[in-house]
Amino acid sequence: MWICPYCGGNHGLPFHDEQLDGVLCLSSDCGRFVEEGGTSEDTRDWDYMDM
Ligand SMILES: [Zn+2]
Repeated sequence: MWICPYCGGNHGLPFHDEQLDGVLCLSSDCGRFVEEGGTSEDTRDWDYMDM
């Protein structure tokens, strides 16, 4: 079950796009988009530039 890290609610709408991958919180007083999983690939690209 998905839980919003901002408000702790569990009503989320999964959303996937070319640029976005995550869950949109459906709580009326929150409504944030919570991204999932994108950070690990960004870090790997960064390491290659050092060599
Ligand atoms: Zn929320």
